[in-house]
Amino acid sequence: MENDILLKGDSLGPEYIFKTLNHKYGTWAYLVIDNLTLGPGKGGIRMTPNVTENEVARLARAMTYKNALADIPFGGAKSGIAFDPKNHTPAEKQEIIQWFAYQLKPFLIKHYIAGPDVNTTEIEMAQFVAVAGNQKAATGKPKSLGGLPHELGSTGYGIAEAAKIAAKFFGLNIKSAAVAIEGFGNVGTFVFKFLSEADAKIVSVSDSSGAIYDSNGLNYEEVVAAKKSGGSVTAYKNAQKLIGQKIFELDVDILIPAALPDVINENNVNDIKTKIIVEGANIPMREHIERQLEDRGILVVPDIVANAGGVISSYAEHCGYGEKEMFKLINEKISTSVQKVLEKAGKENKYSRETAKEIAALKLLKP
Ligand code: NAD
Repeated sequence: MENDILLKGDSLGPEYIFKTLNHKYGTWAYLVIDNLTLGPGKGGIRMTPNVTENEVARLARAMTYKNALADIPFGGAKSGIAFDPKNHTPAEKQEIIQWFAYQLKPFLIKHYIAGPDVNTTEIEMAQFVAVAGNQKAATGKPKSLGGLPHELGSTGYGIAEAAKIAAKFFGLNIKSAAVAIEGFGNVGTFVFKFLSEADAKIVSVSDSSGAIYDSNGLNYEEVVAAKKSGGSVTAYKNAQKLIGQKIFELDVDILIPAALPDVINENNVNDIKTKIIVEGANIPMREHIERQLEDRGILVVPDIVANAGGVISSYAEHCGYGEKEMFKLINEKISTSVQKVLEKAGKENKYSRETAKEIAALKLLKP
């Protein structure tokens, strides 16, 4: 399968694979540094019970492409710790992250800079740098440590920008374009917020409890309030409730998967009716599914182009920039890369991911 190639290696990487076992908890942890051509390997630390070396390697490769496309001087890397924080105390979670920071010391800053990912936040980044002994060993740190935490919404901001550029390219006015967003976590919330501010009409949003739909548009503040009071967006009043899966089949202008992998697949690909898909989540569908959709005239902005806001924010933090400069940088970089990929793919009649990888590969040629 297209996503299972990495541990064999190819001309891009991986350059280093480091794995280590924590004997106390029986926990394996992995760092894959995929490619260092453009700078130190950059990618977050994922803490999930079933994370594997291959998963980390795939994600590290995605970071190689993402950083090259965003034109930032970082290589691609990723870390994974096979640990379920839900079954442990915060003190145990801290112990594991700090043990991992100690293990990674020989790689830090020159070859690897950490960041938050699934189940790690600004709190863990603060704990990580305390052991690493250098603030530059991680990004996504709390503001009190000079950080630009991902909780500022950098990724969602970039995805909203990508959606605006894609709409323009497609000949669609973003004002009043009907948008559906799968997921209302860190990414989905901010995509909703920033697209609402651009006057797009968010007609549907979902979380793990289901989806809500209103053809006249949903109100951002009211969705936030519903989620807060009722624990789910489905607590929103005056909207139609749908099974979560139905969000992918809505007749909208822009569909933004922003939660889980593989949500568009063989089972629902023929039911997709949107004009544009902007991939907020990582790998929301496999490449052959993307190609089927593009063959039907649906415009797809791949994850490695659309969701680079988080790593651009990391770069801004690494340079010591403030919040305002960070958002400006994301705006410039995402607009440029989305436009470039869509134009080249259109001109050469190629798939957008294939085109994005070609653009990245040119930047990754070794001297
Ligand atoms: P998160 O944990 O903050 O939110 C996940 C959301 O998914 C939650 O709203 C949850 O309710 C929802 N969800 C869970 N099951 C669902 C279901 N069955 N149907 C619909 N929604 C469901 O995660 P996040 O940070 O928002 O990340 C989302 C995706 O974006 C992931 O693929 C992540 O890898 C990717 N991503 C995140 C960032 C970042 O900076 N946070 C950067 C790049 C890519």
